[in-house]
Amino acid sequence: MALTGIEIYKFLPKTNCKECGFPTCLAFAMKLAAKAVELSLCPYVSEESKQALEAAARPPIRLVSIGAGERRIEVGNEVVMFRHEKTFYHPPGFVLRVKDTDPADAVARLVDEVAGYSVERVGLELRLDGFAVENESKDGGSFFKCVELVSSKIDLPLILMSEDPSIMGQVLEKVASAKPLIYAATKENWDKMAELALKQRCPLAVYEPAGLGELAAVVEQVTGAGVEDVVLDPGARDFSESLSTLTQLRRLALKKSFRLLGYPIITFPGEAATSMEEEALLAGQHVAKYAGIIVLDHFSPSMCYPLLTLRLNIYTDPQKPIQMAPGIYEIGSPKKDSPLCVTTNFSLTYFSIAGELESSGFPSWLLVCDTEGLSVLTSWAAGKFDAEKIAKTVKEFNIAERISHRSVILPGKVAVLRGELEEELPDWKIMVGPPEAMDVGGFLKQHWVG
Ligand code: SF4
Repeated sequence: MALTGIEIYKFLPKTNCKECGFPTCLAFAMKLAAKAVELSLCPYVSEESKQALEAAARPPIRLVSIGAGERRIEVGNEVVMFRHEKTFYHPPGFVLRVKDTDPADAVARLVDEVAGYSVERVGLELRLDGFAVENESKDGGSFFKCVELVSSKIDLPLILMSEDPSIMGQVLEKVASAKPLIYAATKENWDKMAELALKQRCPLAVYEPAGLGELAAVVEQVTGAGVEDVVLDPGARDFSESLSTLTQLRRLALKKSFRLLGYPIITFPGEAATSMEEEALLAGQHVAKYAGIIVLDHFSPSMCYPLLTLRLNIYTDPQKPIQMAPGIYEIGSPKKDSPLCVTTNFSLTYFSIAGELESSGFPSWLLVCDTEGLSVLTSWAAGKFDAEKIAKTVKEFNIAERISHRSVILPGKVAVLRGELEEELPDWKIMVGPPEAMDVGGFLKQHWVG
């Protein structure tokens, strides 16, 4: 955990000499805690204190990148056990596993299907993040062919899975520039795998199922050899074991500052699941607690959409809902006599009503008020969505110049605002729409005369 100003102050000389540009050591410590200044501004910090402060400033869970380029997966650097304490920062990467014993045409089809899969939700494009290729055949040639096939079709992060360092070394010679994750160093092969990771500058997974003490021992060996980017596989596979082991790992990293286990975790929900549905459930558990990379063994849109949505929800900052920019939005190709609806700038609210308007057959204008990302009822209850705000937004975006009528449709849940809005916009007709977005099409059919 990051140190507080008071904790940092204990390491400073406490002479208040002002040479750092601050009136007191405490003032300097506070700025350091806020990461607004560098420790080097104080010339009198002892070597011992410097080391302690620098060690404490390192993130408790190392940020590790897998892959190169824009679609690389960045995981780790989390600072809390529970999302509501602050936020979770780096969503786990979803990776699909293929095996070098699978027929090449089936692998090619699957890669194409996954590469072409994306869904849009609240204005964001949700997709899977990469592939894991497993050397199930134990044959170097088959492994190489399969890796080559996958990487020739996509530019996504890869995980190379082979227990044989010489096979891994041959394949890495061809694909190391893509910075794949090497899976995995074990008690038996850690020295050779660490050598490869260092030579090719790739992250290295450490697999050790015998317990966290044993896992930490292998991590100590590979980090001692110079590998910095490590991913942990504690071997926990089923619901109960993976929940307790992953929670222990997060606690040890955050609460006990146990550096050897302060790395992101890779999971394999398909290995304990008896069906695709169970795999999805277990993967969902790993999204919440506390995987960095989730390797799936099955792909289907009906499995992936809920997982991607869950990941989006868990990794959205609870204090900063996903928001739309306030303004006037065109749904379909509205004309001057098209309906004008008003809503808030909470993304989910916006996309619910926008989707319903789109399918209603009524091209419309949708006026979005700045409610700091809160939904209709919540923002109304918080005093952020009232008649004054709506009237101000109507005027701010000059909507009157774009339409030929003077009617505005309020969300039914805030029907109570009608009277006040009539006072704020005396030349307008204030209509009250349905409470639920799904009923807006029926409402327009019944009440909108243009
Ligand atoms: S230079 Fe160092 S000792 Fe002097 S006031 Fe700043 S923090 Fe304190």
